[in-house]
Amino acid sequence: MTTRSEREKAQKLNEQHQAILSRMLREEDNKYCADCEAKGPRWASWNLGVFICIRCAGIHRNLGVHISRVKSVNLDQWTPEQIQCMQDMGNTKARLLYEATLPENFRRPQTDQSVEFFIRDKYERKKYYDKNAAATLSKEKEKKREEKKKERESEKPVKPVAMEKVRKTLVIIYQYIFTNFSFFFFFFWA
Ligand SMILES: [Zn+2]
Repeated sequence: MTTRSEREKAQKLNEQHQAILSRMLREEDNKYCADCEAKGPRWASWNLGVFICIRCAGIHRNLGVHISRVKSVNLDQWTPEQIQCMQDMGNTKARLLYEATLPENFRRPQTDQSVEFFIRDKYERKKYYDKNAAATLSKEKEKKREEKKKERESEKPVKPVAMEKVRKTLVIIYQYIFTNFSFFFFFFWA
């Protein structure tokens, strides 16, 4: 059973995720399907980190979850990890990785069957994949994570210091009231 606050929390998280995804979809390369370049993709393969059109999403599903995990950008619930995967990749980086050795004069397939062949070549056989780019990307990712971790750590001491200030102020106020009150009490009793 979920409580109301848990539901509200989940809803808020969902809204945040939707905002991140919509922001990403406004980036130039994400405005087109990563595979067939159809305009306005509304689906994604979160483990590959690419935005794709509905037709390519169907083909990705047929590849199996060991290769591609498909989600609708706005109809599905996303986990923070899945959002992170999309943020780490996106269509621009994915092209550098999965289409590294694609010939410059390559004509992107358009019929359903030829698109499927292309997608299988691209992700299943990794025909155009660049291992060096993958290594660079994972290093970058590691660096970013380290930076984030450092940022979080540098933010940590702020809270206890603030709390200590509040505590000290309260003690002073309390002492002030107590001193004055006891004086008043003493005066009254005398
Ligand atoms: Zn497509």
